[in-house]
Amino acid sequence: MEFETVIGLEVHAQLKTKSKIFCSCSTEFGAPPNTHCCPVCLGMPGSLPVLNRKVVESAVKLGLATRSTLNRDNRFARKNYFYPDLPKGYQISQFELPICEHGELDIVVGEEAKTIGITRIHMEEDAGKLVHDEHENASYVDLNRTGTPLLEIVSEPDMRSPEEAVAYLKKLHAIVRYLDICDGNMQEGSFRCDANISLRPRGQKEFGTRTELKNMNSFRNVQLALEFEERRQRDLLLDGGEVIQETRLWNPDAGRTETMRGKEEAHDYRYFPDPDLVPVQLSEELIADLQAGLPELPDARRTRLMQDYGLGEYDADLLCASRELADFFEAANSVCQQPKKLANFIGTELLREVGAENMAACPIQPEALGKLISMVEKGAISGKIAKTVFAEMLEKGGDPEAIVQQKGLSQMSNEDELTALVREIIAASPEQAQQFREGKEKVLGFFVGQLMKKTRGKANPQLANELFRKELA
Ligand code: ADP
Ligand code: MG
Ligand code: ZN
Repeated sequence: MEFETVIGLEVHAQLKTKSKIFCSCSTEFGAPPNTHCCPVCLGMPGSLPVLNRKVVESAVKLGLATRSTLNRDNRFARKNYFYPDLPKGYQISQFELPICEHGELDIVVGEEAKTIGITRIHMEEDAGKLVHDEHENASYVDLNRTGTPLLEIVSEPDMRSPEEAVAYLKKLHAIVRYLDICDGNMQEGSFRCDANISLRPRGQKEFGTRTELKNMNSFRNVQLALEFEERRQRDLLLDGGEVIQETRLWNPDAGRTETMRGKEEAHDYRYFPDPDLVPVQLSEELIADLQAGLPELPDARRTRLMQDYGLGEYDADLLCASRELADFFEAANSVCQQPKKLANFIGTELLREVGAENMAACPIQPEALGKLISMVEKGAISGKIAKTVFAEMLEKGGDPEAIVQQKGLSQMSNEDELTALVREIIAASPEQAQQFREGKEKVLGFFVGQLMKKTRGKANPQLANELFRKELA
């Protein structure tokens, strides 16, 4: 029997606001435990929450970027449950009336373009953190994270493969980063994803029973967890078994998903509108302002990079992986005006050392890289030397021209000097010289290689070719 995979994702994006969602406590990461809390985020009786305007603005921006319907009137609800990291006994979230609904996000997998539906985007507060590894016989509670603002983005069950799910997740990740509303750090959990997955016989209309996967802190882990779960469910169904609706944890070391807890339908959160918060009203003016201030989004930028710089899809995708990288590329290109060579260098050299998400930590200034590419183009250094200079720039930053000077790496283009070396090499390899004269063109590579070795890569390769041809003739 053939099965079709069905996947829907729930993503939590932690917002980059300075203060929490309902109080003025700092959201800064890494402070000593329980130093960033107050009566409001601790849920003390009598304290009252006040909504952070930036949270609403972030949600509207994401709603606009995903072609969502913005609910001009939306409201907060209490989601009631007990857990030690939730001092109030309820989480303030949104339920019947979220801020955004019916959004869309475009993805491309292989040759196929597809639009994934976004069911809803809502604002909510994060819970605290339990610390289990400080003491053998005790768990501690750190409430610094309590009240940190989150957006939850729920997709329709529109994805049909792990690849599509990862493409969706990457696109959403790029958008929140372009909008500058979330730092997107998956390892630290500021961008996290729960994946719902089920299988159904191909052609069947109803969805199969799903499992929900948690604990995947990278795109790769999302891919691997979904692939594993797809296989597990298929084997189970082929064996005549049934998938049980449950939450499963991805175990990256074992490479499998494991039961965490059973059926969740027993949960009754007793949602009700939060009486301490007034409904949120979005004015047309606010929406228009935020719309006008939206940055160029990944898809638009990709199209523009292809049009303006004549780049192919591959390069454009690569460069648009993050806003910082695309900015870096454009700044560097303004110096060298060599878009294709620059994109190629970034793809093969720079991204191997600095991740697209990590450009803020890149020790190389874009202008310096642009200059390096220019130097190669003008023949001041060879492509090989450029890599040496680049390695130095990675380590210490700095100006490529200064590095070339300092290390004596300038290209050797002096004809007399090179001719002398060329003659030496030919004299030392009479056999190869003979072969070349008998028409074995390939031997030229051997000779140029010898010269490069002697000059530590500094000989001008074009001139080297010419000189060998001349001297061997
Ligand atoms: P819950 O309230 O348990 O979180 P939802 O109905 O809100 O459930 O769905 C959560 C996510 O699961 C959504 O992203 C949705 O698209 C996805 N989903 C729902 N049913 C299925 C299914 N049968 N297979 C795969 N994904 C599903
Ligand atoms: Mg859910
Ligand atoms: Zn507080």
